[in-house]
This record gives sequence, C-alpha cells and structure tokens, in this order.
Amino acid sequence: MTLESLAAWLRCPHCGEAVLPQPPLTVRCPNGHSFDVNKRGYVNMLASGNRMIGDSPAMLDARQAFLDGGHYAPLRESVATFGSAGLAKGPRSVFDAGCGTGYYLDGVLASQGDEASALAMDISPHAVARTVRGIGARCDGLVADTWQPLPVRDAVAGLVMTVFAPRNLPEFHRVLDPEGALLVVVPTAAHIRELRADGRALDIPADKAERLVDDAAALFALERRERVEYAAVLSATEADQLVSMGPSAHHAADSPMADSPVAGASELISTTVSVDVLLFRPILR
Ligand SMILES: [Zn+2]
Repeated sequence: MTLESLAAWLRCPHCGEAVLPQPPLTVRCPNGHSFDVNKRGYVNMLASGNRMIGDSPAMLDARQAFLDGGHYAPLRESVATFGSAGLAKGPRSVFDAGCGTGYYLDGVLASQGDEASALAMDISPHAVARTVRGIGARCDGLVADTWQPLPVRDAVAGLVMTVFAPRNLPEFHRVLDPEGALLVVVPTAAHIRELRADGRALDIPADKAERLVDDAAALFALERRERVEYAAVLSATEADQLVSMGPSAHHAADSPMADSPVAGASELISTTVSVDVLLFRPILR
C-alpha cells in the first residue's frame, strides 16, 4: 500500500469528494475532511457511533485455522476462476467487500499478473489489517460498513467480490467500472446442514441465489454461475471453527450448546459444503 494507491480508491464519506494523499499519513478531501491512515496500510472511515460489530481477533483466528486446513480450497479455486473471468474486460482492480482474513481475495490476486491491485474492506479493523498484511504491497485497506454509502469512488473497480458477506447492490453498481463484474458467493440450503441439525448454526433460507438474481435484476445481469458442492471431513475442532465462522458466531453466547463440541474430540465429522458462485455484469443506465 502507498498513500497514493489508497487515496486513489476513496471518496470522502461526508461530502463524496475524492480524497487526496496528504503525507505522511492522512487522506483529505477538498472540503477539509481528513482521515488518519494506519501505518499498517488502511484507513478507518466508519462513522463515529456506528455500532456494528465486526469480527474479533479470536473469530478471525478460528476462521484462519479452519481455512488453513484446506477444506474450502475447492471454493477458493472456483472464486479465483470466476474472478479471472470477471476481470477479463475491465481494469484489474479488485474491491473485496467483506474481506475477512483475505483468503478469497488472495486467491483471486494470485490468478492475476503483478499489475492487479486490491482494496480490502471489512467492518472489522482486525480483518482489514490481517488481509493487508497477508497480501502485501498491492493491497490497500478500508474499514467501512457495507450497509452505508461506500467511501469508494465511482467506477474504480474492475471486480467487486463479496463472499459470505453483506451486499449493497446499488453501491456495488456505482463503484464498478462499466466493463467490470460482480462476484458473489452465497451458501445453499444444504450448506453445513449436518452441523446445523443440532441448532448451533442458523438455518439458511432456500433459493438464496435465485432471490439474489431477482433482487439484482434491475442493476446486474447474471453471466455465469456454478454450484460448488462436496463433502468435507472435519475434526471436532474444525467443526467448531466452521460454526464460529458464520453469522451464527455472534449468537453463540445465547446458545446453550455454545460450549459443547459437536462430537468427541477424536471423532471425524463429515459435512456438506454447498455454495453458489455467481458472476454478474452491471447493466448500464
Ligand atoms: Zn469531505
């Protein structure tokens, strides 16, 4: 990350004007709103008083430990393939809205040449710091809330990706280059159903992908989709890690099951991984 590369992605969350680099470690808009840039390569543009809770270091550790086990490698491969297809026409700049540990973004960038660059966004500063550190110089970081107007400039992204993360479709459309693409990963109703059977994880509504295609229809046209589905064999620890990765983790404290492992420590658990990977093109208005 450089101050210049970071500023080139961003607009002021207060007035919408493009921000400019202000060395040594500030970005600033023409109306005088300025933002401190963290030495670790990201800027926090969350409105003060935003009460959204991002992933904690412990949750990110659990997620990373699980992903390091390789159980989602087939999914990461599919995301990288779709990302490459999405980046074929427009600029090779990737905006990851909800980057988590950076696992999928890293996969997309690895499929590209050195000139590809990225902006990793998450509501958790820990997630953004981890992603920027893991990917290195070609990645800038932004702490912001997907549900708010994004502090990202118009038409700067060749690919917007959102993997198991919230979606703000009008804003994704605005920040996308007209030749760019939107990549979305959503779980199907069968995803980790064996782990959800005991009520530890939230149910996933059926037809999530179909509903997304319908909701997006005014702004995005579906170009291709793929269902990635396989059985993953997990240790009890990995099953716990997987459950703690999802939105269910924020509810774990309310669950009487929260502290009980899904099986004995030595037992292996087979569970279904089932997700839809979708690639959309923006409809030009
Ligand atoms: Zn401003």
